[in-house]
Amino acid sequence: MSAKAASDVPKEQWAQVVEQKGGPVVYKKIPVAEPGPDEVLINIKYSGVCHTDLHAMNGDWPLPVKLPLVGGHEGAGVVVARGSLVKDIEIGDYAGIKWLNGSCMSCVYCRQSAESVCPSPALSGYTVDGSFQQYAIGKAAHVARIPKDCDLAAVAPILCAGLTVYKALKESNAKPGMHVAIVGAGGGLGSFALQYAKAMGLHTIAIDGGEDKKQVCLELGATTFVDFATSKNIVADVKKASGDGLGPDAVILLAVSEKPFQQASEYVRSKGTIVCVGLPGNAFIKAPVFDTVVREIVIKGSYVGNRQDTAEAIDFFRRGLIKAPYKVVPLSTLQDVYDLMIKGQISGRYIVDTAN
Ligand code: NAD
Ligand code: ZN
Ligand code: ZN
Repeated sequence: MSAKAASDVPKEQWAQVVEQKGGPVVYKKIPVAEPGPDEVLINIKYSGVCHTDLHAMNGDWPLPVKLPLVGGHEGAGVVVARGSLVKDIEIGDYAGIKWLNGSCMSCVYCRQSAESVCPSPALSGYTVDGSFQQYAIGKAAHVARIPKDCDLAAVAPILCAGLTVYKALKESNAKPGMHVAIVGAGGGLGSFALQYAKAMGLHTIAIDGGEDKKQVCLELGATTFVDFATSKNIVADVKKASGDGLGPDAVILLAVSEKPFQQASEYVRSKGTIVCVGLPGNAFIKAPVFDTVVREIVIKGSYVGNRQDTAEAIDFFRRGLIKAPYKVVPLSTLQDVYDLMIKGQISGRYIVDTAN
């Protein structure tokens, strides 16, 4: 039994369940779990749909996924129960389920707040059930603290998309006034990257495909848009967009295909940084050794963010600096969202409302 709980927590709830690799998701009633001593139970109101949820359903990655699985890791809601060891979060507080549901807290990485590389993490919607259900469990140390003045639908995508791109921009070492190329700029992570970059005083070169994405990117503050589907020479177009023609100071790779990972070292400025974030299945990064050495190019990975990054990313949002487009649809229609995502037809984020 939880140490403390709201009186109206039901025994059963609606959820979207992946029952077999490749899906589809099945909308059904399942039991509500009880939080352990160091956990909280959150009544999820809204949950953003990340491309990672689709990778999880399809089994794209070299990392085993739980089955049956409740996906979702951008879940924002209200704390309704807490375990006996939890003292610093109250019933009724706003909180969020993010990708890193929990970590060991004692390894060398956790001790240094690099918990995303903990060797034994619990991953929401991947190794433990996530937020595509009405009640989800999170380790109290890791759930995101959401201020009461935040709108729970709008804040949900900050828990993965916002946090991840904010951390990646910090990892890029780009300083105010510099140029950053955002590859996959019209998608979920991309639209937030454009907003965080703008708030951080950076120029952005948005790269994506199609008129809809171009429109969205320019509205979100992109300095230039380069269409990967129609450009005759992406490398030349991206370099041209960087002011002095020497190429962007940093590249944030958010795309879900391999090709842009190979291209980035051709247009990044000498001494520039390429930050890999997107996770296309079975993909490799290839860069010429000669150019990487003599142009002193940095190529690195960036994976979500720690608890402090989470608090900072939410604070940018709370101050009204981050407004990316989103569409709220019923939890029951999650499969339709995946179908649109597969076609690359989503600009910004879709968010499921767990009330229907
Ligand atoms: P999304 O489907 O919303 O967006 C992907 C975008 O990439 C789309 O707009 C698509 O048109 C665009 N794109 C495809 N090919 C392109 C190309 N060749 N050039 C430029 N743009 C191209 O996906 P999302 O939710 O934003 O997630 C993006 C990726 O990031 C996924 O692989 C996801 O798993 C990964 N991800 C990584 C982390 C991390 O911590 N590293 C966190 C969250 C998500
Ligand atoms: Zn995600
Ligand atoms: Zn650890």
